Amino acid sequence: MSAALLFTFAFALALAAGLVVKLWLATRQVRHVARHRDAVPAAFAQAIALAAHQKAADYTVAKTRFGLLEMAWGTALLLGWTLLGGLDLLNKLLMNWMGGGMLQQLALLSAFALISGLLDLPFTLWQTFRLEERFGFNKMTWRLWLLDGAKSLLLGALIGLPIAALMLWLMGAAGNLWWLWAWGAWMAFNLLLMLVYPTFIAPLFNKFQPLDDATLKARVNALMKRCGFAAKGLFVMDGSKRSAHANAYFTGFGASKRVVFYDTLLRQLSAGEVEAVLAHELGHFKHRHVVKRMAAMFALSLAGFALLGWLSVHSWFYVGLGVQPNMAAPNDALAILLFMLAVPVFGFFVAPLPVRISRKHEFEADAYAIAQTSGADLSAALLKLYQDNASTLTPDPVFVKFYYSHPPASERLARMVAG
Ligand SMILES: [Zn+2]
Repeated sequence: MSAALLFTFAFALALAAGLVVKLWLATRQVRHVARHRDAVPAAFAQAIALAAHQKAADYTVAKTRFGLLEMAWGTALLLGWTLLGGLDLLNKLLMNWMGGGMLQQLALLSAFALISGLLDLPFTLWQTFRLEERFGFNKMTWRLWLLDGAKSLLLGALIGLPIAALMLWLMGAAGNLWWLWAWGAWMAFNLLLMLVYPTFIAPLFNKFQPLDDATLKARVNALMKRCGFAAKGLFVMDGSKRSAHANAYFTGFGASKRVVFYDTLLRQLSAGEVEAVLAHELGHFKHRHVVKRMAAMFALSLAGFALLGWLSVHSWFYVGLGVQPNMAAPNDALAILLFMLAVPVFGFFVAPLPVRISRKHEFEADAYAIAQTSGADLSAALLKLYQDNASTLTPDPVFVKFYYSHPPASERLARMVAG
């Protein structure tokens, strides 16, 4: 058996195994949630109404079923691009039209991104205007949706094309160790993006106003001082213009570090509860979760670039995924695209590991918040957030292990009571 055929076989096997596991997990989740739909778990009987519990169950089931449809479509597209020859066809069309070279490769990356985006459009639209709408979460208008889309496209071209050109250039010009150079450039680019995101990119999509509630501001500032934390500012974001889901987050680093509250969060929580949520976020910093996550991202991308460097010089990598490499022209754009398509297929099986670490971090941040503020406020806030976001209180435990980056409410609240 040739190496290419062997690789095709491994790819198909990983894809099929992944589908079976995903289908099994989704079925478990839907059954588990449906089985517990008729009664609020005893621990929450006082705090959660049956109607809210059932809404969460229905929302969870609807999202899981939608996820299955998306998975089927995504698999069809993946096979279409690879083994059925879609990417090969697109590459040949562009080669005939433009010849080989940097422009052809940039055109290939752009055409792939545009076509994929268009093919995913029905799902994006359905999710926003049907699924989220049905449960009362969508606040997005068509006008805003179109405006967002236009801005994202423009921004994607402005930021994406130069970095793609730089990557392709390094792949062609930097010799055998190009992947090390490309990794360095990629990391620098990501750091730069994190630096400019809060001040230049996020304001293109949302309005950020300084927090003007004096009482809340005083509490928040006192908390930050107590925790030895300096941020440039406290901001309120008009999240309500897109969705009723509530959130708070930290963004940027160094001088551009800031705290952002969604207006939806401030509407739903008392001052004490907001303080507890913020203390939880500070806990992520105190436990160095942010730094650890960045270090992990650096290490993983180094491994990724090294792997891409190795794969890109083997013709079985291309042929095995349904693409004939160009003879007299560079294949770097093809290598990047095939890599992006193939990695999730094999990577799915290690997915439980990062979410497991993330859940551990959530518990640590909760513990920090309880030490710094009131445990009662934190549990009340979490309960409200889980309820307002219609997160189910009764997810399937195995599904949680695979997918949940945050522990279910029951586990978090149980630890708070115990602690
Ligand atoms: Zn957290």
